[in-house]
Formats: sequence, structure tokens, C-alpha cells
Amino acid sequence: MALLGAFLCCVLAAWHCRTGLGLPLAPAGGGCPAAAAVGQFWHVTDLHLDPSYHITDDHTKVCSSSKGANASNPGPFGDVLCDSPYQLILSAFDFIKNSGQEASFMIWTGDSPPHVPVSELSTETVIKVISNMTMTIQSLFPNLQVFPALGNHDYWPQDQLPIVTSEVYNAVANLWKPWLDEEAISTLRKGGFYSQKVTSNPNLRIISLNTNLYYGPNVMTLNKTDPANQFEWLEETLNSSQQNKEKVYIIAHIPVGYLPFSSGITAMRQYYNEKLIDIFRRYSNIIAGQFYGHNHKDSLMVLSDKKGSPVNSLFVAPAVTPVKGVLEKETNNPGVRLFQYKPCDYTLLDMLQYYLNLTDANLKGDANWKLEYILTQTYDIEDLQPKSLYGLAKQFAIPDSKQFIKYYNYFFVNYDSSVICDKKCKALQVCAIMNLDYVSYVDCLKQYYIKYGH
Ligand SMILES: [Zn+2]
Ligand SMILES: [Zn+2]
Repeated sequence: MALLGAFLCCVLAAWHCRTGLGLPLAPAGGGCPAAAAVGQFWHVTDLHLDPSYHITDDHTKVCSSSKGANASNPGPFGDVLCDSPYQLILSAFDFIKNSGQEASFMIWTGDSPPHVPVSELSTETVIKVISNMTMTIQSLFPNLQVFPALGNHDYWPQDQLPIVTSEVYNAVANLWKPWLDEEAISTLRKGGFYSQKVTSNPNLRIISLNTNLYYGPNVMTLNKTDPANQFEWLEETLNSSQQNKEKVYIIAHIPVGYLPFSSGITAMRQYYNEKLIDIFRRYSNIIAGQFYGHNHKDSLMVLSDKKGSPVNSLFVAPAVTPVKGVLEKETNNPGVRLFQYKPCDYTLLDMLQYYLNLTDANLKGDANWKLEYILTQTYDIEDLQPKSLYGLAKQFAIPDSKQFIKYYNYFFVNYDSSVICDKKCKALQVCAIMNLDYVSYVDCLKQYYIKYGH
């Protein structure tokens, strides 16, 4: 039955292609018919709408998210010390809508409210912002299935996502009903996570995790071994997917693994990180990709099994918001991305990263979203499979690697091409790409220092 489903899917995909939808063709081989069209989906994350954003002569008053600091160069599409004006977010979705790219779904990995002090928000305002973003997406893309994940800012007080039902879980369960089935809505209401089949792609399941339960600042989950029983639910869900011959894309806000810009710090609490890594390793044969947000920067990770063989590809998407702290030198330009996959087995083929040069857009009063890079082309790799990304990461590790210089510029979404990553910075980056668990990460840093010096 599953085989027949896959066959039909490929036949349909090929038919779509012949009828001239203008979809790109997949390279031959790998079990898919050569003529099968490529499947595509969008990934947007960290919109961080700041409803207070407005142009005014007093630069301390442009946006609450600058927290009293002078906005640096505010324009209609935002400022690097502010979260997103509505106009920036709208320009991103308008670009997606008018890009000419056919996508079968979109993933949206959380963080809609602005970075402002807790006292300036409330449960009501947080729900209002998420509702505003949901309505914006639903009105622009009435026929597109969207898979959201909750972020640490999608709650009040921020980071404190609970292990039982809450006003916010209830509100998003209602808002996201058009995209999800009853069972998904029910687990979303209870714990802020769900799994859902992709309507247009038989045998593909999205698992949207509430990894905010594992986030360091969340005191609701201190000393809990399995908050909201999400680990148990995840294993059951992956197990039944395996039996039903489904493939799975994991989406969540807070990523697994180590932060690429600081030494020895996992994005979530270490205990939870180890638990997730263990589950992902055991089910890596059915997990066809993992997609995260939260870091606001563009980065790759490759999960290896215990013996060191690459088994999973992970992608952290850059934010739409360009915001940075006053003391930070670098930030990211706003970005959105498009993934391409084989429609018959959901293998990831490529990723197209789009961005907005914020300075330029403000200067011209026009949001000219552009292609930043195509992952396989820019690095000359075959596809997005774990082996290919692992090979790329090994090239990064070579001293003065040109590939890595590119990667580090993309990390900030082309914000500052003069930015330099010294030896220590590079060791942290490379070790975070290739090592997601404690033992291998620590060993990597050690090896790196031995090989290339301090
Ligand atoms: Zn964020
Ligand atoms: Zn976040």
C-alpha cells in the first residue's frame, strides 16, 4: 500500500510537471523517476513583530524593543536595534507569495512577539501578536498548509512555557485549526506540541516539538525528567511512523546541539539535549530532516551516530527580525528560505536562502528580497544528505578554508562581509556543526586545539 502510495505520488508529481507548473526537475537516480518534479516548502522563523515601531525624530522612541537606545538608522523596513515593523514582515510574505515558487507547505518555527521587558507584555498581548501573524499568513496563503512551532517568546512571561494546558496553548490550538487535524489540536492544547501529516504529501509527517520546555530559563520544567511527557510521546510517534513507513521532518524553535558562537553551551539544558539526541539517533532512518529557529543566525548541523557516521541533517534558519543588542557588533539581515526535496521519499535536495539587505531597502523605500545563495551550488556539494554536509564541514575545518569564509558570511545573512572568525571562533563553529552530544563536542574542541593550535 505504501509502495503504491509512493508510486502514485511520483506519477502525480510527474503529471504536474508535464502540465507545466514550471517546477524544477530533480536530478536522476536515487529511486525517484528522473522526470519527477521537485517538492518545495518554505521555512520562516523569528518574526518578532514590534507593534510600537514607527519613524520619529527622537530615535530613542522608534521602537520599544531598542529599550531606550537610539535606533541606528531607522527606515520603513526596520532598524538593527529594533524588532520587525509590520511592513518588514509583510514584505517577507509578499516576496514568498510573488516569488513564482510553487511550495506544498510552509514551516514556521515561532517567536512572534517582540524582545521587550516582561512588564510591557501580557498573556493578552502575546496572543494578539501571534493571532496577528497567523491571520496575516492565512489571508496571504489561504490554500497553503502551514506547520507552526511555538517559540520561547510565544508565551507570557517569556520562556515559561508550562507542562500543562494554558491560555496560550488554547489560543494557538484555535488559531491553527485550519492547518491541523483533531489529534494534533488536542496535543497542542495540552502541551504545545503535535504531529501532523502533510495533506499534499502522503507518507510525510511533521513533528512539531515544544523544545521551549527544555530551554534553560524555563523554571516550569526544573528537575523534570520528561516535561509534558513529550519524550514519551515523541518516541511513540516516531515508532508508529516507522511502522507506517512514513518519513518525518522534525521542526522546533530551540535547536538541539551546541551554540555555534559560545564555548560548551547547548541551546537547551544539557540533560534534555542528550535525551533528544539519543531518540533522533535511534530513529534517524525515518527522520529526513530537522528544522529550527531561535538562534537568528544561519547555521548547519550534522548528527552522527555513536560510531561517528553522519545520520541526520539539521538546519537552523535565520530570523526575519534584524534585531541586535546595543553592544553586539554583528546581526543578521532578514531572511526566509525554500527547501527542495524528492517527492517520492522526502530526501532533502537543496535549500535556497533569500534575504533583504535592510540598509538598501530603507534607503530605496523598497523591499527588494533577493536570493542570497543556493546551498549545493555555493559549496559545490551534491545534495543536503548527512554525508554531503559532513564532507562540507570537514572542508570548513581546513585552515583558511574559503568554504568556511563563505559560511561565516552567510551565518549573518550577508550583514557584514568584512567579518572575521579567528581560530577560536572557528573551532567553536566547526565543532558545533559536527558534534551535537557532550562527549563528541568536548573531544572535537580538544582535537581542534591539538591540530590547529590556540
Ligand atoms: Zn527569536
Ligand atoms: Zn527564541
